[in-house]
Amino acid sequence: MEVFDMREFDGHELVLFGHDAATGLRAVIAIHSTTLGPAAGGCRMWPYATTTDAVTDVLRLSRGMSYKNAMAGLPFGGGKAVLIGDSRTAKSPELFAAFGRMVDSLRGRYVTAEDVGTTTADMAHVARVTRYVSGLGRSPGEAGGDPSPKTALGVFLGIRAAVRFRLGRDDLQGLTVAVQGAGGVGYHLCGLLAAAGARLKVADVLPRAVERVCDEFGATPVAAVKVLEEESDVLAPCALGAILNTRSIAQLRATVVAGAANNQLAQGQDGEALRAAGVLYAPDYVINAGGIISVAREYYGGTEAQVLEDIERIPARLTEIFERARRENRTTNEVADRMARERLGREPQRLVA
Ligand code: NAD
Repeated sequence: MEVFDMREFDGHELVLFGHDAATGLRAVIAIHSTTLGPAAGGCRMWPYATTTDAVTDVLRLSRGMSYKNAMAGLPFGGGKAVLIGDSRTAKSPELFAAFGRMVDSLRGRYVTAEDVGTTTADMAHVARVTRYVSGLGRSPGEAGGDPSPKTALGVFLGIRAAVRFRLGRDDLQGLTVAVQGAGGVGYHLCGLLAAAGARLKVADVLPRAVERVCDEFGATPVAAVKVLEEESDVLAPCALGAILNTRSIAQLRATVVAGAANNQLAQGQDGEALRAAGVLYAPDYVINAGGIISVAREYYGGTEAQVLEDIERIPARLTEIFERARRENRTTNEVADRMARERLGREPQRLVA
């Protein structure tokens, strides 16, 4: 595997492979940039088919964290860790302690947290051996805890900013929002949207998740395979990445796409297809920063009130991107990438999302 020649390699500062025979740990930590602070980003556990798949993912995700942290104005660089294994069968306290020792060996250059396949409980085992971990829970009034409601709040405020920019409306009363994925973030987002008077169309592959938002928030269920084609004012992807591609964009019937899912564009150039279709796209790593904002305040020691203040800055940041995109005749994702790279002191680059 030629790491330095991989398409996802973007001048990363460090790629560290870790192995522990006793626990079966196979991990890769990637630090994309520490220009703005210690590299922060979660630890994903996934049964990657090959080591190359794991490295591809960790390089891409760590660069994304640099962008997300830079755009959120956080004193963090970008990093990520992946553990190769099935989170349903391969976890043990010892495995996470072994991972924690690997994190500790970097002496604070990388700060970890939970991500797909890992939980707060797993991070508690990491915290036994290193202090470079966040997302551990909190006392009342302190920053931290479950990041999903914080991410949902940022997405909700971001949707309002996008609606104001694209539709000239100050409220969401009577607008239709199609939500793909009613999990941790989607559920809380539906609550906020319903309270603001939006009409909800919700899809999830888990019938239980859909029933819950229909019961609690009066949402209308839609088929998971059809949700991207639903007629709506706003489409809020809150499930999977890479859902926006040439084929799906041609089927879209929304005017705004603004949701929590990471890496919504299959490729950077799909932003151009959205723009050509008259769809305003809220760059994912800008609108979904509420969770990392909470993690950052927890790590550095802050309050819940400070977390909310920071999240309230997300809509202004998005509006700046929308305005710059219009002024410069560029896509919103390209503008966001450029702004992030300016903050990181890196040259602009046409990137694959
Ligand atoms: P989650 O796993 O709790 O929820 C995702 C939901 O999507 C699940 O209910 C799942 O059944 C559903 N789903 C999966 N495939 C689907 C499909 N094809 N169609 C419809 N629904 C489908 O995850 P989450 O924490 O709510 O995160 C949602 C997205 O937001 C993810 O992409 C995540 O990476 C991103 N994100 C989350 C946070 C956070 O704070 N949790 C922060 C930033 C970004």
